[in-house]
Amino acid sequence: MSEGFTKKKKYGQNFLTSDRIPARIAAESGITPECGVLEIGPGLGVLTAQLISAAKKTVAVEIDGELIPRLEARFAGCDGLTLIHADIMDIDLKHLTEEQFSEMPVCVCANLPYYITTPILMKLFESGVKFRTITVMVQKEVAKRLCSRCGSPDYGSITAAISRYASVRKLFDVKAGSFSPPPKVDSAVVRFDLYKEPLFSPADERTYTAVLRAAFAQRRKTLLNSLGAIFPDKDALKEMIAAENLKADVRGEAVPPEKLCNIADRIYSVK
Ligand code: SAM
Repeated sequence: MSEGFTKKKKYGQNFLTSDRIPARIAAESGITPECGVLEIGPGLGVLTAQLISAAKKTVAVEIDGELIPRLEARFAGCDGLTLIHADIMDIDLKHLTEEQFSEMPVCVCANLPYYITTPILMKLFESGVKFRTITVMVQKEVAKRLCSRCGSPDYGSITAAISRYASVRKLFDVKAGSFSPPPKVDSAVVRFDLYKEPLFSPADERTYTAVLRAAFAQRRKTLLNSLGAIFPDKDALKEMIAAENLKADVRGEAVPPEKLCNIADRIYSVK
């Protein structure tokens, strides 16, 4: 299937070499026969084939134009698949899902290109599309981060940023040897089950993002000192932190995201 095709490092092209793992991803992703599935980066189509069998309709977005004719040849005559040659980051996901999936519940499934994992995840969650589940293969370390609890050493700004949108769990690990070429690190598949509505919504997204970034920028700093970078009035900050029943010397990574959101709202209201 990959004859004559040179895999491109710049697109994170580490392809799964057997059907076993793609079959397991599709089986554990919550996709049911009435679902539409958005796949990001079909590559040579190993996961795509499983998604087509599991779902009513599959839309696969691939950045590499050289792969499109190969995918078209592999899936010729298959009407459950729409291939789109595009960079997922350039796609209006609301428009795409309304146009392609109309009334279907929509899941996302992907073996993500590792160079762009976080931007893709944030784009999916911030799109406002009510995906049912998002099941993705990521680097094992990233999976650990995504599944960690507030206050634990692996907990980071991405974990906090996503927590209002979905619950998350690791499905299984995948060894580097399952890919061609093998990446330098092992991988894991994680599944997000999205809440009907986000658990909380900041008054201003930009201020909340700035608070999250600052809170996690230097992990040894207290929240008070970290937030000084975006809001210099220390006395007012102290009051905002105390109003959340937090100790004055609390560190950013120990603060639940909804409290960071409340602090962001207070900063926004006086800015
Ligand atoms: N799904 C295949 C598999 O499991 O073997 C390929 C996975 S490979 C890790 C990532 C795929 O995403 C590649 O096919 C790559 O060309 C594609 N890709 C990389 N960046 C992309 C982007 N910005 N938009 C869409 N596809 C992208």
